[in-house]
Amino acid sequence: MRVYLDNNATTIVDPHVFETMEPYFVQKYGNPNSLHDFASETHPAIKQAMEKIYAGIHAPKEDSVVITSCATESNNWVLKSIYFQYILTGRKNHIILSEVEHPSVIATAKFIESMGCRVTYLPINSEGLIDPQSVRDNITDKTALVSVMWVNNETGAIFPVEEIGNICAEHKVLFHTDAVQAVGKLPIDVQSFNVDYLTMSAHKFHGPKGVGALYMKKGKELLPLLHGGSQMGGYRSGTLNVPGIVGMGRAMEQAVDALDFEMHDIRELRDAFEEELLKIPDTFVVTPREKRVANTILISFRGIEGESMLWDLNREGIAASTGSACASEDLESNPVMEAIGAEADLAHTAVRFSLSRYTTKEELDYTLEAVKKAVTRLRSISSSYAYAPEGYKN
Ligand code: PLP
Repeated sequence: MRVYLDNNATTIVDPHVFETMEPYFVQKYGNPNSLHDFASETHPAIKQAMEKIYAGIHAPKEDSVVITSCATESNNWVLKSIYFQYILTGRKNHIILSEVEHPSVIATAKFIESMGCRVTYLPINSEGLIDPQSVRDNITDKTALVSVMWVNNETGAIFPVEEIGNICAEHKVLFHTDAVQAVGKLPIDVQSFNVDYLTMSAHKFHGPKGVGALYMKKGKELLPLLHGGSQMGGYRSGTLNVPGIVGMGRAMEQAVDALDFEMHDIRELRDAFEEELLKIPDTFVVTPREKRVANTILISFRGIEGESMLWDLNREGIAASTGSACASEDLESNPVMEAIGAEADLAHTAVRFSLSRYTTKEELDYTLEAVKKAVTRLRSISSSYAYAPEGYKN
């Protein structure tokens, strides 16, 4: 059996999405900007796809949704443009983010920090959550932007973006949220709370890779990301990725249709699976279930390196993740486990299982047996588990 439980990394392309995209590779391949029928026959599909993306996040027509190549691009764009518009010009000197943002936010923040911007990295608490009060405490009259992700990719923790958005509005500070792990898992309505910029990525909700988007509120537009043409309202020039846009539109439509299933049926599957995993002695989950999206479990198995668990699971055909980058000889610990201040030996033991609407109970039953087998094998050869104080082993 092959079981894919790494859906926070990427998802299978929904067959309907694939079907919708196909004609735009070999039949309707015209450049939408050209002046002939090959071009104009792509227009209705692009228009429809954009309408679906706007509808999926409840964006009003006057706001902008700019298609990018990925969420990494959208996140880079927001921070770098804010740097050019507000920091370099001397109007502001500071931005705020959580310390567990995706590397595409953290690394970009480090870059603009090296160019003179002050950056505050907000801590998370022991449940892996952000206290909105910490945003209020750190805002100054020189703060240009607050950037806090909606859902953490490691733990699935839902961050209080509504409260943070309100605090930003009160202080007239721009607010960006990386909603990559929220789309398809939570209802998204950019009109229901204060948000100026919102990042999305199609491949996280059963769309194609290589296509993302950035939502921008009217009046809060960023500088153009790519100069050289009129595509995407001049914000991001370059020939449009027609199949990608069409695929993202269809994926968004499917995500909205499947939302109830993703939020309730997947939750039931996840909860039952998690309960069984937690029956294994010395296992820990950081964020309480009700404060997480329905598909994610980040679980630690004391005494077992996350990578060793992945190795054993992979041999059984099961894909999961540790959330840590494996750099040459060094096994890095999970950044969220580090941020919550987990003891050193636990920080290396996290394994992430992320489900999707394609996950079945049979797959989870199979995975549970494989996990149990791996735990027995790996703990029998684990020096850190063998010497753990008695209280750690029940
Ligand atoms: N932001 C979050 C929260 C993510 O989980 C990811 C991907 O893992 C990204 C950004 C980057 O997405 P992309 O692959 O579209 O660049």
